[in-house]
Amino acid sequence: MSDKPHTLRPRTIAAQALGAIEPATKAVALPVHVSTTYIRDPDNQYRTGYIYGRPDNATVRQTEAVIAALEGAHEAMLFGSGMAAATGVVLALPPGSHVLAPEVCYWGFRDWLLHEAPLFGYKVDLVDFADLASVRAAMKPDTKLVWIETPGNPLWNITDIKAVAEIAHAGGAALGIDSTAATPVFTRPIELGADIVMHSATKYLNGHSDVIAGVLATARDDKLWARIRQVRGHHGAILGPFEAWLLLRGLRTLDVRVRAQAESAALLAHRFANHAAVSAVLYPGLPTHPGHAVAVKQMSGYGGMLSIRVKAGERAAIDAAARVEIWKRATSLGGVESLIEHRASIEGAGSPCPPDLLRLSVGLEDVDDLYHDLDRALRAANA
Ligand code: PLP
Repeated sequence: MSDKPHTLRPRTIAAQALGAIEPATKAVALPVHVSTTYIRDPDNQYRTGYIYGRPDNATVRQTEAVIAALEGAHEAMLFGSGMAAATGVVLALPPGSHVLAPEVCYWGFRDWLLHEAPLFGYKVDLVDFADLASVRAAMKPDTKLVWIETPGNPLWNITDIKAVAEIAHAGGAALGIDSTAATPVFTRPIELGADIVMHSATKYLNGHSDVIAGVLATARDDKLWARIRQVRGHHGAILGPFEAWLLLRGLRTLDVRVRAQAESAALLAHRFANHAAVSAVLYPGLPTHPGHAVAVKQMSGYGGMLSIRVKAGERAAIDAAARVEIWKRATSLGGVESLIEHRASIEGAGSPCPPDLLRLSVGLEDVDDLYHDLDRALRAANA
């Protein structure tokens, strides 16, 4: 037998929440720490490291430690939502900084970058990250953050993390990545050169559609990370302890959940690719997907999200989404129940999302039940 220390796999880290045991009772399920304030030591110090609940909380720290371990990160920080986490990165940059972001990404963040970040003095340009020459050309002397999202919601286009990290670092910028759809199970962006990894923990990390949460994980303890911590503390953007506890519970099954979801998503992608009512399937695991070659390089699985384009157009797409019975017609993604959404209806004017597109978040139901439900709805909608 080898004496080399064995590094624990993500599945073990998550299932045991890093093996944490509550010291007073030896409980294997950790308590929720709700106190907002803490007693000072007799000599006026705060040796436990806890002072007040807005900057920090022990339950939040437990959950952060598990996510940091899953990402191979130095540390993680939880926020009240994915949006609070992503905007927290931008608000931590020096005033007047330039930010490069993708044309296709979560529409709420793109909207904030285009319409609100400039009110704080930030300059934002959107680029197509599939075109590395145009990314290089868009870098400016004051570019402090390059932000990518891969797979990118809702077209699931793939960005080459390693290549973009090199461009960002050559220009003196940090690389931030929204890795919500990939999850730490399928992509480890820090190993590929990312500086900050962000998740809407509302989605796969929690996985049960019952917590709104966001998280950032950092490659190292640097000036940007210290600024982000200040922003979270001052803005009161920390996640609440109950939500952090639920998130920790959800994380314990992350690995098995997302692997099962990805397996079903791949099966559905292949079956709908040959469906008479579908003109295109957007799923990075399909060899026909434009980002497939890069996905093979940087992902160990292709995730549980896909989109289909309905041949008969927008009306038929909306109609099909109204006719499903097992799929739930709702926004969001990453939960145990499958969701279907006509994305253009929510993204509105200026969205790069085609009007005939239906976004599918594949849950844990039986994959044949899912296929037959949507197949029936598509046929009826085209009738
Ligand atoms: N990033 C992605 C990829 C998302 O899908 C979402 C939400 O839909 C967000 C960020 C925002 O996260 P939250 O809703 O937790 O603020």
